[in-house]
Amino acid sequence: MPGPAGSGDLRIAVVGGGIGGMAAAAFLRRAGLTATVYEQASAPAEVGAGLVVAPNAVRLLRRLGVLEPFLRRAVALEWGWEFRRWADGEVLSVERLGGVCERLYGERTYTVHRADLLDTIRRAVPEGWVRFGARCTAVEPGSDGAVLRFADGGRAEADVVVGADGVHSVVRGTVAEAEPPEYSGICAFRAVVPARAAPAFALRAAQTLWLGPGRHFVHYPIAGGSAVNVVAFAPAGDFTDESWSTTAEVGEFHAEFADWDPRVTGLVAAGGAPGRWALLDRAPLPRWSRGRVTLLGDAAHPMFPFFAQGAAQSVEDAAVLARCLALEPDDPERALLRYESARLPRTTRVQRASHDRRDVNHLPDGPEQRARDTALAAADPLVGSGWIYGHDAEAAFIP
Ligand SMILES: Cc1cc2nc3c(=O)[nH]c(=O)nc-3n(C[C@H](O)[C@H](O)[C@H](O)COP(=O)(O)OP(=O)(O)OC[C@H]3O[C@@H](n4cnc5c(N)ncnc54)[C@H](O)[C@@H]3O)c2cc1C
Repeated sequence: MPGPAGSGDLRIAVVGGGIGGMAAAAFLRRAGLTATVYEQASAPAEVGAGLVVAPNAVRLLRRLGVLEPFLRRAVALEWGWEFRRWADGEVLSVERLGGVCERLYGERTYTVHRADLLDTIRRAVPEGWVRFGARCTAVEPGSDGAVLRFADGGRAEADVVVGADGVHSVVRGTVAEAEPPEYSGICAFRAVVPARAAPAFALRAAQTLWLGPGRHFVHYPIAGGSAVNVVAFAPAGDFTDESWSTTAEVGEFHAEFADWDPRVTGLVAAGGAPGRWALLDRAPLPRWSRGRVTLLGDAAHPMFPFFAQGAAQSVEDAAVLARCLALEPDDPERALLRYESARLPRTTRVQRASHDRRDVNHLPDGPEQRARDTALAAADPLVGSGWIYGHDAEAAFIP
């Protein structure tokens, strides 16, 4: 998509080179604009574990022209939302995703390692646009731009600043007064199990969720089927570390699921030392933009991962942000307000839906749990979630 004349002169700084920041740079390039991405990591790294990439994100990756390399490293799910009972693995409900998802929403649903998705999106960003080892410490807004300060003492000027710096965003402090996060009482364990160590049932092209009292356990294959991603939610006790790099002991993970179906405990044992992070609870922000500074992805709308939409929503943000800036390069403040008003209602809805799912997934055995299981068997989550998966962020944006 060619950009308007002169739009390449707009200096756009993207703070954070995660999924959202890289997608923003890629969509800005597609819109004929240029950007500089400031990423704190000193080099691209293989961090993170598995992500689900639903049709609402896949259609945007296709438009970036990176679908082919993505498909080489992803797994196309045949079954999804395969809910099972914690004690014996009884299937409570399952969706055939294969052709049905494509027929309903025009794209399939995939799973992928976060590092593979990031690497795929980076292919659409010119190498010279990304500065690694650049940890932003402050953004000082001015009337026609902002100054960025970095941990190494450096500074940069920009006409527009996009804070794509994740859940612990530094840029957020410049644009919004966020309520302090609340303790959710839940933590997540996660592990990547090599396919050779994983039981056959976990290698099926299925996203499986085991539901039990106070806990749930999710697994699906990633990395072209060469590994299984495991992520499990359990009471956090006094653990509050919201970090993707903190690890735990296998024994701690096992203790949380010790009396569950042996297929679950078998996967725990096969995974080695798991990662562990605390889920903090954050209310949706009432605004994301102030002057020439805005937010995107987890910096704007951190959410519980129970709809697996964190990455997808950041890619949607990126596509709409690029459209808005390309339409009004001469009035970036207006462009950012348009972006915010196009995106905020939808991301707030996804945040709330993800939040509400917590209690439903963790019901203790009893009448409420039996009612939930009956409802799960009767519902069609694929159709019920059409507002998420059927959404085309670019088509929905009407200037
Ligand atoms: C290391 C890591 C591992 C993750 N692993 C998983 C996973 O296994 N499964 C899952 O579902 N989700 C994972 N996530 C979260 C998931 O990537 C996001 O929810 C989603 O992709 C939205 O992306 P985002 O770009 O908004 O934020 P993020 O993906 O969190 O990216 C933020 C980026 O900003 C950089 N950054 C942060 N602060 C600064 C700063 N001050 N200056 C410069 N750069 C900065 C970070 O290094 C990171 O690259 C992970 C996130 C991270 C950072």
